[in-house]
Amino acid sequence: MRLQTLRGLLPLALAACGSGSPHDTAAPAADADVIVIGGGLAGMTAARAAREAGASVILVERQPELGGSARFAGSWLAAGTEAQAALGVEDSPEQALAEWAEATGGDPDDPVVEAFLEASAGALAEAVALSGEPVSAVTADADCGTTARKHWVDAADLAGTLAAAVDAPWTGWTATALDLEASPLGVTVEPTAGGEARVLHAPAVVVAAGGFARNLDAVLAQDPWLADADPVPEAAPANTGAWLSLADGLAWQNEGRYGIYVHSTPDFRPGFEGEALLVLGTERSLIVDASGRRVADESLSLTFDLAPVLAELDDPRLFALFPASVWPDVRATVPGYDWADPAEPEHLSGGELVDAGAAWFFDDLDRAAEVLGIDGATLAATVARYDELAHAGEDADMGKAPEDLVPFDDDRLGVVPLVPGIAKSFTGLSVDERARVRDAAGAVVPGLYAAGESVGMLGTPAVGTGFAGSATAVFRLGEVAGAEAAAFAAE
Ligand SMILES: Cc1cc2nc3c(=O)[nH]c(=O)nc-3n(C[C@H](O)[C@H](O)[C@H](O)COP(=O)(O)OP(=O)(O)OC[C@H]3O[C@@H](n4cnc5c(N)ncnc54)[C@H](O)[C@@H]3O)c2cc1C
Repeated sequence: MRLQTLRGLLPLALAACGSGSPHDTAAPAADADVIVIGGGLAGMTAARAAREAGASVILVERQPELGGSARFAGSWLAAGTEAQAALGVEDSPEQALAEWAEATGGDPDDPVVEAFLEASAGALAEAVALSGEPVSAVTADADCGTTARKHWVDAADLAGTLAAAVDAPWTGWTATALDLEASPLGVTVEPTAGGEARVLHAPAVVVAAGGFARNLDAVLAQDPWLADADPVPEAAPANTGAWLSLADGLAWQNEGRYGIYVHSTPDFRPGFEGEALLVLGTERSLIVDASGRRVADESLSLTFDLAPVLAELDDPRLFALFPASVWPDVRATVPGYDWADPAEPEHLSGGELVDAGAAWFFDDLDRAAEVLGIDGATLAATVARYDELAHAGEDADMGKAPEDLVPFDDDRLGVVPLVPGIAKSFTGLSVDERARVRDAAGAVVPGLYAAGESVGMLGTPAVGTGFAGSATAVFRLGEVAGAEAAAFAAE
């Protein structure tokens, strides 16, 4: 009998087995071999792996539909792949390991990293096969190292395939508590829309409930410097950390490592205030702080590496200054999850930002300095130096690539204020290489597994400040967690 048809009977069944009754000494019956909490990329992958290992699975997802952020995760890091070989890109897990520290700020000596990179090509091949579409591109981006190893996958099709394979998911239910003393383990679930709570039991539980970018209190607890910088979320609405209560008594790792971009300006559209508008082309701007000084190689705005620079500033205001020759190309875009209407244009121009009061176009630097509240002489000196570097074709100060050095030449410029955008969790529950969750004392909790952003992607502090293309880690650890949970349940 399919689980859906059982659902109406569950309260009776649970009452009959005395779940939660103080007079009942018998162990509660298991409702499944494995309970997976969260139906994003990690949870759906874990459910698939557990089922393929022969386990019965209940997947609990608080949203009305499965998927989480899976359909957005288009870029995947992998080393030594068929797609790279076809393009003549020489790469290997060893080479990726050699670039790991530079790309992620993490420790390449952690055996988890080596195992991940070894497995990355296989994980990518599997994901690509599930998506039904070939890798569309392989790009070289600093957040994946210096070699072209960011693979572009049809994430929407992959998400659809994984969702369709989950049998009778418990969508619209939120897991609110874990009973780790119970045997089998207990998971309290409540209808997300409100209603009576139930307790489900299984020998093994996988927590795959995503990150918490939209839970500002929780992020600030780890990254307090953000409080003054007016951050915006760059993660999907589901990332509220609705699972953090499950983490009580469990060990946490890589604290303070949140993937934060600095390439957004606050959205101004009615109903979207406080959301992120991603400004495209910031690598070709000159980014200055409130004192009028240049802060970094502007291409760091495309990675998570500009946030640490911002964190060090006393005044966290940053401005992207675009030469007049670049300004017509400047676009702002809304993250895919935020489009209100498919008929809306995908991009807003710099001019539209100016019309909305979200950006400025100035005819001279003095006026810019006055409006921005920056010392005019300092700003003029910064722009003059930048022009000098651009004309020389070499950024002797910050090392930006010559093609991104565009001189201002005249005094006209467009200006967009930049705020940090909280995108990804590289911190989370502490797990071992088998996705087993550790308790506060560091001991493995029997039967409890975790994967995905809930463990900070890779599940080790060796992820450092993080990397793009981390979907590979989410997918792979999801598989490990599902298979391990099924094996534990079978024991
Ligand atoms: C616009 C956008 C673009 C992105 N692009 C990329 C990219 O190109 N490459 C890349 O690697 N990554 C990218 N990411 C990030 C990537 O999508 C995520 O890191 C990844 O999908 C996380 O998967 P997950 O399963 O761990 O979490 P999620 O996808 O967040 O899934 C967790 C699920 O758990 C559910 N849940 C939470 N709490 C509970 C609870 N208590 N009970 C029941 N259910 C619960 C949530 O509703 C959610 O559906 C992008 C993200 C966004 C938003």
